[in-house]
Amino acid sequence: MTQTYSQELRSDTSEIIIPVISGLTILAGLLAGVANSVRLQDSWPFWVTALLAFGGGVYSWRLVKSERPKAGAALFIGLYLFLITFLLVVEWQPGSPILYFYGVLIAISSMLYSLRAGFYTWGISVILAIIGVTIRAGGLDFLLLLRQLAIPITINFLLALVAYLTALEWEYAVESVSGLHRRVQQRRDDLFATKKELDMMNAQLRFTNQQLDAARQEAITERDLRTRFMNNVSHELRTPLNGIVNFAHILAHGGQGPVNDGQADYLDRIEKSGWHLLAVLNDLLDMAQIEAGEFKLHRELVNLHDICEDAMRGIRGLILDKPIELIRDYPDEWPVVYADKMRLKQALINLLGNAEKYTERGIIALRVKPEGATVRIIVEDTGIGIAPEHHEKIFREFHQVNEQDARRRIGTGLGLPITRHLVEKHDGTISVSSDTGQGTTFTITLPVAGSRFPRKGPVKPDVTPVVKEVEAVVPARPAAVE
Ligand code: ADP
Repeated sequence: MTQTYSQELRSDTSEIIIPVISGLTILAGLLAGVANSVRLQDSWPFWVTALLAFGGGVYSWRLVKSERPKAGAALFIGLYLFLITFLLVVEWQPGSPILYFYGVLIAISSMLYSLRAGFYTWGISVILAIIGVTIRAGGLDFLLLLRQLAIPITINFLLALVAYLTALEWEYAVESVSGLHRRVQQRRDDLFATKKELDMMNAQLRFTNQQLDAARQEAITERDLRTRFMNNVSHELRTPLNGIVNFAHILAHGGQGPVNDGQADYLDRIEKSGWHLLAVLNDLLDMAQIEAGEFKLHRELVNLHDICEDAMRGIRGLILDKPIELIRDYPDEWPVVYADKMRLKQALINLLGNAEKYTERGIIALRVKPEGATVRIIVEDTGIGIAPEHHEKIFREFHQVNEQDARRRIGTGLGLPITRHLVEKHDGTISVSSDTGQGTTFTITLPVAGSRFPRKGPVKPDVTPVVKEVEAVVPARPAAVE
């Protein structure tokens, strides 16, 4: 059972009062013993008093110290009741102050034992005083008792009352302080518990962080390996593919002597397939670089016109056998953009290539609309369109709206994710507006760099079909190979 705060304080008080009173008693006993040492029959009570005060004091003090403060206090009070009574029996004379020694004991007993202990001690002291004086007087003498004990007993009673009231007040103060103290302790315990929980959570967090670090490190290593692998594979494939494409082209165009129509057709297919494979390889390489965070732009101030025209030239040859009208809707003044020429052209070729792939008839338009600090580049077609639920997904890697259809048309599902990355790298945005069967419009919005180039020569909205040219530009989305 936990001790109340006032009990704790009583125990602390006992630890001080017991040795002090014992010491004083021993000293007084020794002095009185020495003073009366001429005759042993006069001095022995004082030696006995000093000895009992020493033995009882030490024992009581040890009880208090060993967590039994009540037993220690009871022993101490009992011992002094006995000692005072003993002195009464051996030393009392009418007018002697010994009876007032009970008063001191009464006063300290409520400090050492309990609130009402003063009254109990007083009651016992009354009985003991009567017994002691009676023994000392050699018989019961009521008149003597009345005359000698009335005043000390009354004073001792008043002392018991004062001690009680003081102890009451003291206890009340102590308990209210201890209530406060308990609340503070409770709060402190709560705080400790919370701190412990926080420490645990911190440790967990640290552990999770370490795991995350390890996982990230693993991912980085894996990604690096993949990138290196992709680079190697792309390089190893690109070199022979370039050879295949170029030699097929040379053979088809009679570079090694005349070829018949059938041979030319096969050579043409070989060349187209080669171009397609090169485009796929380029996409894979770009994607690997994007994922590895190694995709770099070489930006400069460029004329958007040149980029648009290059891109348009790139797809011009692809729509020859389709009833598609190619429309250029260009501004009078071209804005300057801060861009990587090759990469921006790649983005446009991807969009125009898709427009060609998914459009059988109608129009494919490239519109450029400068609007203050930005310029919109719009690629519009009248093709199969894209259902709204796919608008977000088509920008994700490898997502194709209709896989069978896409396979027939040949594609990897990487064109749009790469395009979006390219545009965002140029601080721009890309959006799509389309529905099934309604054609598709992709809009790129780019920041304008400042000064403007004048329109480059007259540009007609419609371009007449051109003779197919072999260009140094690798078309990103070549026509399907039947
Ligand atoms: P893919 O290589 O398959 O063309 P993309 O990332 O370029 O990959 O395009 C993803 C998908 O978005 C395509 O498979 C196609 O379903 C759809 N798509 C893209 N452009 C168009 C378009 N102009 N018209 C219709 N569908 C399109």
